[in-house]
Amino acid sequence: MTAPSAQSYRSWGGLSARDSEIVLARDWIAGPGRHRHPALAYGNGRSYGDSCLNDGGALIDTRGLNEVLAFDRESGLLTCGAGLRLDHLLELAVPAGWFPPVTPGTSFVTIGGALANDVHGKNHHGAGTFGCHVRAFELMRSDGHRLICAPDLNAELFAATIGGLGLTGLVTQVTLQLMPIASAHMLQEVLHFDSLDRFFEIAAESDATHDYTVAWVDSLASGRHFGRGVFFRANHAPGSLEPPPRAARTVAFPPTPPFPLINRATLSAFNWLYRNTQPRSPDERRIHYRPFFFPLDRVRDWNRAYGPKGLRQFQCVVPPAAAREAVADMLRRTLAAGEASFLTVLKIFGTRPSPGLMSFPMPGATLTLDFPNRGERTARLLAELDCIALAAGGRVNPYKDARMPPATFEASFPRWRDFARHVDPGFSSDFWRRVTAG
Ligand SMILES: Cc1cc2nc3c(=O)[nH]c(=O)nc-3n(C[C@H](O)[C@H](O)[C@H](O)COP(=O)(O)OP(=O)(O)OC[C@H]3O[C@@H](n4cnc5c(N)ncnc54)[C@H](O)[C@@H]3O)c2cc1C
Repeated sequence: MTAPSAQSYRSWGGLSARDSEIVLARDWIAGPGRHRHPALAYGNGRSYGDSCLNDGGALIDTRGLNEVLAFDRESGLLTCGAGLRLDHLLELAVPAGWFPPVTPGTSFVTIGGALANDVHGKNHHGAGTFGCHVRAFELMRSDGHRLICAPDLNAELFAATIGGLGLTGLVTQVTLQLMPIASAHMLQEVLHFDSLDRFFEIAAESDATHDYTVAWVDSLASGRHFGRGVFFRANHAPGSLEPPPRAARTVAFPPTPPFPLINRATLSAFNWLYRNTQPRSPDERRIHYRPFFFPLDRVRDWNRAYGPKGLRQFQCVVPPAAAREAVADMLRRTLAAGEASFLTVLKIFGTRPSPGLMSFPMPGATLTLDFPNRGERTARLLAELDCIALAAGGRVNPYKDARMPPATFEASFPRWRDFARHVDPGFSSDFWRRVTAG
């Protein structure tokens, strides 16, 4: 099988791989020295910025490493190739009564990508990050060495690789502890809130009673409606696992339009529609896990709505004491800039530490905003949001980013020099070259 052209390897924000040698993982494993240096693994390109791209070097397509190598249905311990996609893992695990312990907002990620970014989900307040549930993995370095890493085996590389943005080598296989479930359904409650203060109150009470919590914020609301939104909280539902869930039906987004469809006018209509189509009564509803965890997966390639220049996502986390003010400042700043964020998500991260040295989450509130890329204008706003997050003692997410300067990275990850000691000398990325250039 021959690999497709570099241009078809993109990040979700719309950047493409340009001048990279595309190497299938099995070919790279057979002879790492035969390919361009530096190398970088590519999962399924669901990172938003340039952390999954490697201009001029080799991009290792891991998606062929997708075998399930072992699955103990009694204990829920699963070993798979790092290129296995989460949606495929779900198809296998859910009918057997098991669920991934942490899922991001899309199921179209690989297990290796989830490990390398140490992704978080709506249950971070209880379950921590993906890396908290990784029991072991195999890492292949550019010199051909293969190492098993676990909390008590090659422990420093274990910690550096979880959340290590793919820079410590190629993860070939992963052993993950799944969590038991009784059904494929969730019991979900939907609560409308009319201010940020109310969001923080609901979050505080819900994190004690619900495994999964997250809120959507109406980023265009101002005046007395400022900070309004919709809070979702859920637990896995009791019941039985039969019949097995049917494959999700998806629709494809039409080809990329010549201009972004997301602007203040369309967003205003969207926000109105979104808020008003959410249930108004706080009753518990039984829904399938897919629309709860992965609502956007129903529309394939929805990022095309942002037009040919793509989108820029911003995600930060700010510590609890500063969270209320910092989140309000960022929303006000976005409004003042005349920008519209389509998917504005607010969530409280918990205190469970990650084993990852460079993991993004820390205790506090995390705010995520999506903007159509309007070049300099968008970059200016994102730089202002960086300043607010950092001044509040927070950090900015590297795998959602395509432009943070070295100073933002260093302030976000003061331990980055410890991490840099573990970076494979034969690995790099566009992101890494940018943030370590200064
Ligand atoms: C709609 C949507 C919702 C999202 N929601 C969330 C969310 O709720 N929480 C969250 O944390 N993230 C979220 N994300 C981001 C996404 O979960 C992460 O970026 C994820 O890591 C992407 O996985 P991937 O397989 O596509 O990897 P890629 O994006 O291709 O790569 C990610 C990183 O992993 C490295 N990598 C990939 N495979 C390997 C390997 N085998 N060995 C070593 N390194 C490897 C790459 O080098 C790169 O640095 C979301 C993204 C989208 C598009």
